[in-house]
Amino acid sequence: MTGETRMHDAVIEGLVARERISDETAELIFSPAFDEARGRLFAAADRIRHETVGDDVFIRGIIEFSNHCGCRCDYCGISSHNRDIPRYRMTRDDILATARSAYELGFRSLVLQSGEDRYYTSRDICDIIEHVKTDLGMAVTLSIGEWSKEDYAAFKAAGADRFLLRIETSDPTLFERYHKDSKWEDRHRALMNLKELGYQVGSGVLIGLPGQDGPGLARDLAYLERLQPEMVGIGPFLPHPKTPLGKNPPGEMRRCLTFLALLRLYLPDSFLPATTAMGTLDPEGRQKALRAGANVIMPNVSPVSNRPGYQIYPDKIGQSDDAETCQRCIEDLVLALGRKPNLGFGHIKRRIY
Ligand code: SAM
Repeated sequence: MTGETRMHDAVIEGLVARERISDETAELIFSPAFDEARGRLFAAADRIRHETVGDDVFIRGIIEFSNHCGCRCDYCGISSHNRDIPRYRMTRDDILATARSAYELGFRSLVLQSGEDRYYTSRDICDIIEHVKTDLGMAVTLSIGEWSKEDYAAFKAAGADRFLLRIETSDPTLFERYHKDSKWEDRHRALMNLKELGYQVGSGVLIGLPGQDGPGLARDLAYLERLQPEMVGIGPFLPHPKTPLGKNPPGEMRRCLTFLALLRLYLPDSFLPATTAMGTLDPEGRQKALRAGANVIMPNVSPVSNRPGYQIYPDKIGQSDDAETCQRCIEDLVLALGRKPNLGFGHIKRRIY
């Protein structure tokens, strides 16, 4: 064993023991200099995934019900800057019919995602949740951005189980550089409100935003450790040509997988998706993520006709596959890894570490 291998193994031991990550260690682990050891880090994360959340891969069907958005995020293809995409909104009845089709395919966990679209009132969202819960009994996850605490409480009372809201970056200056009309503090407060209301909360970061570095990613991890979300979704920034960040390079797969493995080590029982963005950056991206700590996958069950409108980044995978095809290909992907597809509610059982 070389001195370098010994040194890298000591770093991995420290990470497995959830030691605080110094700037020097952060620089190292996210850089190519750590490539020799990266497989061993992923193996440690995969082992902890097996011991804490088991071998099931939880499959949640996602309906992207509106691409109208009032926000101006400098990286996002459906942000209000982009005037070149057709905008669509699904009606309540279309959303419920799509949820029912997913139910009939066997899905019991549904994610409802949209841009920040205030065409739907809080009452409209509650009505949709109530119908999904009473007619279909599915677990409901919302991913509809920042709302008031009262609205979040109303969605919870209507039956919503989970809420996904990425912090995107724990650095307020970086956040406000790319979200010109939003405040980091508001995003953080929204996450705290969701926690206080008893949601299973999902957060996460974009990997590869220009200006982000290894120590910054370690601070993102520390932020997530303090927040203790039940789910963390991360993915590479993928440049969309019709956005202000369209000419920047994409986030690196190495950094995404490393961050994912760290999440599994530092938040051992959290639910971590192998995201579509990882599968778009690398054709084997989701498989690699599932071997580095991930245990969730979210196939698209939206009507195929809406998919071109929901290109938050270009060349998103699975654009032409209907819900049934998406489901089959995800189940095959999971089985090929020797894991078990699970279409159930997928609730998170919290343990105290
Ligand atoms: N409006 C909701 C919100 O902001 O939480 C949900 C929809 S938003 C499009 C979902 C996620 O897409 C964001 O949290 C962001 O991280 C991700 N996203 C947007 N543009 C992206 C891009 N160019 N590359 C990778 N991910 C992107």
